[in-house]
Amino acid sequence: MTAATGPATVAAVLVAAGAGERLGAGVPKAFVEVDGVSLLGHAFARFAGHPRVRDVVVVLPAGVSVELDGRFTAAVGGATRQQSVAAGLAEVAPDVDVVLVHDVARAFVPAAVIDAVIDAVAGGADAAIPVVPVHDTVRRIAADGTLAGTVDRSSLVAVQTPQGFRRSVLLAAHEAGRDLPVTDDAALVEAAGGTVVPVPGSDEAFKVTTPADLARATAAARTARLSSAP
Ligand code: C5P
Repeated sequence: MTAATGPATVAAVLVAAGAGERLGAGVPKAFVEVDGVSLLGHAFARFAGHPRVRDVVVVLPAGVSVELDGRFTAAVGGATRQQSVAAGLAEVAPDVDVVLVHDVARAFVPAAVIDAVIDAVAGGADAAIPVVPVHDTVRRIAADGTLAGTVDRSSLVAVQTPQGFRRSVLLAAHEAGRDLPVTDDAALVEAAGGTVVPVPGSDEAFKVTTPADLARATAAARTARLSSAP
């Protein structure tokens, strides 16, 4: 940790090795174009253009190479998200303090969310995750399709990315939890006894999952392009 001695050295691992079939676009989700740029390209710009992010690792499907507008290291992903993150983590330089793990499907994450995650980890947390309130009523459904009880949504949050970690904590958690069935890295850190703190997420960090999300993504991309135009 360098919190007391200077700014933290930050690397981002962008995982883009999933099939993303729910979009129905015929190509892996990361390579679907929105306003003329792939989702990976949009996500890359958010991190490569962030003043506190020094290095970017992009985890790609086997056999795929990409050109991106900036410097990055490529890694080959695995069969699960966890394996893909581990492959990216292996490419992170040893002098990095804070690792941000990001799903490229959240291509339009605002800089303020990236800053909040970095601040929490650089300030001493093992890990930090962006969270947003749950607006829908949430119910359990039984295996036979019948409805079970309603969940109290006031005690729920939805988790976004980037998730931030002290590099040493994330490495140890991946090492210890290689076979654990988790959906994110924060759960691995908790399983290893680490503490994870919440920071404010953003509606703008929505995950592009279904075809309906593409219209919202296109609007977000156009807004970003117009606001950065000279
Ligand atoms: O499929 P889902 O939306 O949950 O994937 C979350 C993220 O993990 C995506 O960015 C996807 O590309 C990535 N992923 C990966 N390798 C896998 C599975 C998912 O990099 N084997």
